[in-house]
Amino acid sequence: MRIPFLDLSIMHESIIDELDRSISQVISKSEYILGEEVDRFESSFAKYLDVKHCITCGNGTDALELSLQILKVRSGDEVIVPALGWISSALAIQKTGAKPVFVDVEKDSGNIDPDEVEKKLTKRTKGIVGIHLFGTPFDVRSIRRICDDNDLFLLEDCAQAHGAEVDGTKVGSFGDVSVFSFYPTKNLGCLGDGGAVVTNNDELAQKIKSLRNYGKLEDGFVSFGRNSRLDEIQAAILNVKLQYIDQWNEQRKKIAAIYRTGLENRFSFLAAENAVYYRFHILSKRRRQIADGLRKAGVEVKTSNILVAAEPVFSVKEKFPQASFLDEHLIALPLFIGIDDKALNLCLQHLNKH
Ligand SMILES: *Cc1c(COP(=O)(O)O)cnc(C)c1O
Repeated sequence: MRIPFLDLSIMHESIIDELDRSISQVISKSEYILGEEVDRFESSFAKYLDVKHCITCGNGTDALELSLQILKVRSGDEVIVPALGWISSALAIQKTGAKPVFVDVEKDSGNIDPDEVEKKLTKRTKGIVGIHLFGTPFDVRSIRRICDDNDLFLLEDCAQAHGAEVDGTKVGSFGDVSVFSFYPTKNLGCLGDGGAVVTNNDELAQKIKSLRNYGKLEDGFVSFGRNSRLDEIQAAILNVKLQYIDQWNEQRKKIAAIYRTGLENRFSFLAAENAVYYRFHILSKRRRQIADGLRKAGVEVKTSNILVAAEPVFSVKEKFPQASFLDEHLIALPLFIGIDDKALNLCLQHLNKH
């Protein structure tokens, strides 16, 4: 038996009739870009998150770039970002001409460490991009307080945490602006690329709306925009899938719970309070040996590098002890909607041999 790291087809097959119908409807309506489906998704997703505006765009990386543009990040500015995560946040900062200032993460959660942030504040600091890594909300309250005390913006990168909550409030509503990706593997994903910016600020929302569509508003072209839009077919798919997100996040939590209990005390895990488990990781000093063993047994696992600060493109010499430790010891286990108990048990069996 081979257990893939990810198989999205099971989830999609379970709602195939609804997906087929929604796609056919778009085809017959003959409206393929910025139509009813996009409008409907934007208002439904805003309602789901309890934010005022959702503006979709081409992908999560564009959502970050557009956000930093309306937050007026420029050359000479510094923007704080966790050393561990996904490259898009730091890339988007770099694209504005500003400097990404990497900070170390909390050992327990892998998320941005507020104490480390305090140490990196300078006169040039313009804002903070926090990432809710692997589905676990970062310490938004502390980071928000630092932003308020120092007149900085907070941008939440929620690309791995659709539906995660902090004290009953969904992530995405703590930032001045927040971004989502709907890349297929994400907790809410379409069947291609997609992204969104959400905000409670009317003015910023208007600007994003214009920027994603060549800089156009009703009156004409009012800014130097670009083309970054979610298409109607992807929006139609998201409209179907949004109805299942809570149910699917619950399933992810159950799978994580099965792993946690099944692994007894043999492995340590990342602390994952309120997590919606985009990924489930174990930590091991014998990562290579364990990963090789699992792969030989047909269980696909990931040990990918996520220490963004160490990527050649940023040429950062500084060391980030906690981020490096996690980068070297994390093993991501198979987790997807529809993975069955047999597969989970097989995976556990192999892990418990070590
Ligand atoms: C996936 C992801 C992105 C980028 O989204 P794309 O839609 O692939 O451009 C940004 N940030 C994080 C944390 C992500 O996981």
